[in-house]
Amino acid sequence: MIMEQEIKSHLHEIEMELQNLTRLFGIPDSVWLQPDTYRYSLWQDPAQACFVCTFNSKTQSVKRECPLPEVLNDERLDALHRRRAVRRLCRQTFYDLLKAETGLRPPWGSLTGIRPTRLIYEQLEHGSTLDEAAQNLTDLYDVTPEKAELLREIVETQQLLPPTDDKWIDVYIGIPFCTTRCAYCSFSSGEIGNGRLVEPYLDALFQELRAGVDLLRESGHQLRALYIGGGTPTSLNEDQFARFLDEVNRCFPGVSEFTVEAGRPDTITPGKLRLIREAGAGRISINPQTMNDRTLQLIGRAHTAQQTVDAYAMARAEGIHHINMDVIAGLPGESLDDFAHTMSAARELKPESLTIHALAIKRSTRMHLEGTALPEPETASRMTAMGLETAHQLGMKAYYLYRQKAMAGAQENVGCALPGHACLYNVDIMEEQTHILAFGAGGISKRVYPGEGQLRRAPNVSNIELYIARVQEMIQRKRDLFLDR
Ligand code: SF4
Repeated sequence: MIMEQEIKSHLHEIEMELQNLTRLFGIPDSVWLQPDTYRYSLWQDPAQACFVCTFNSKTQSVKRECPLPEVLNDERLDALHRRRAVRRLCRQTFYDLLKAETGLRPPWGSLTGIRPTRLIYEQLEHGSTLDEAAQNLTDLYDVTPEKAELLREIVETQQLLPPTDDKWIDVYIGIPFCTTRCAYCSFSSGEIGNGRLVEPYLDALFQELRAGVDLLRESGHQLRALYIGGGTPTSLNEDQFARFLDEVNRCFPGVSEFTVEAGRPDTITPGKLRLIREAGAGRISINPQTMNDRTLQLIGRAHTAQQTVDAYAMARAEGIHHINMDVIAGLPGESLDDFAHTMSAARELKPESLTIHALAIKRSTRMHLEGTALPEPETASRMTAMGLETAHQLGMKAYYLYRQKAMAGAQENVGCALPGHACLYNVDIMEEQTHILAFGAGGISKRVYPGEGQLRRAPNVSNIELYIARVQEMIQRKRDLFLDR
């Protein structure tokens, strides 16, 4: 029999989840400051062998039941299963209440997690087919058929990729400088300004990279993918960029997947593209975010749409065969026609992969400080659908996806690529089944324990000056993470 105290502790645990659900319906957090807006009860009905939950608001009342989990006569497991059943029941009941009250259906139903693909994989592990697993998401969590189909497409694409296991590791190297700061940026990167931190940063980074080579030799892991991100790596000048890529090549030669983010078109020069190609990087990102100049100005990106077109031409002329394009759906002031214009430019530029982000406004961003509003859910939904349709028209398939809090229309970020062009690193970082060795300010190394479904992290400090001062500590953190057996 579930005890009253146990029930209370379960409800305390799911408070955050309930708050996430109200956000899904666009209800402001302040609702939780008003007592008695939502009332609940939860009890165990011994006669029916079920848990019963009711949620009430001023206008609606809903009730749901779920069977008691099978008793395994293992105290710890039985408690865990009861806890899971109660959490799911409460969450679903509250979701029903909000749906009845608002008349809305969020695209991902009651799911609030970052990685919905995990739910598909869990079901596959329990013997479901991919189709059944996708259908179950609709049946159990009210995920719309369109989003369930998107997940099905992603997992189907991922299943064709080289599998990972304990021996593989990905390397991430961060260059945390940008020419200006985007209004939606929540990363720890800094404006490059007069560049006074670049040289000391590279010195510290090179120390960390060389120590990483020793670490890899000692741990015995094999390199699967190399990803240089940021920030904007191409914000370094040509001389710094050449020395940096040289060092990367010396430390991690011959990796089969090698990506360099060249995010801001205005930082790209023929010289840097040549250095990228000569370093052996097969994939770069040139990210317009939007092809509307008015929006680019508004969001603090110091480049024009024409500079994106020029950068693509430069990269093609340099013989770079895989360009990824990032776009954002729901940028301030953009209409469906504006987004359609960006998609039409994407069709002309023909990137090999297209990543469609739904705008997310995090607390640390200028947009949040300025009180920028997210677009209407319907607009965001139509934009992301248009983005996916464009990717399909270009012959791409969706291959990874993640969600964030405070996203336009409670949508998602989805990466699409032509057959044979999915980026393993992007899949690995989302699915958390491959070790990550991260270098540079803000990099987060991860050691996964696949059989146990566990993960340990060793984060580097994100402040650039602290990173420079404390690089030896960052080196030791990674050694502790990967050499501790
Ligand atoms: S380019 Fe990326 S890292 Fe740089 S400011 Fe913009 S969002 Fe942030």
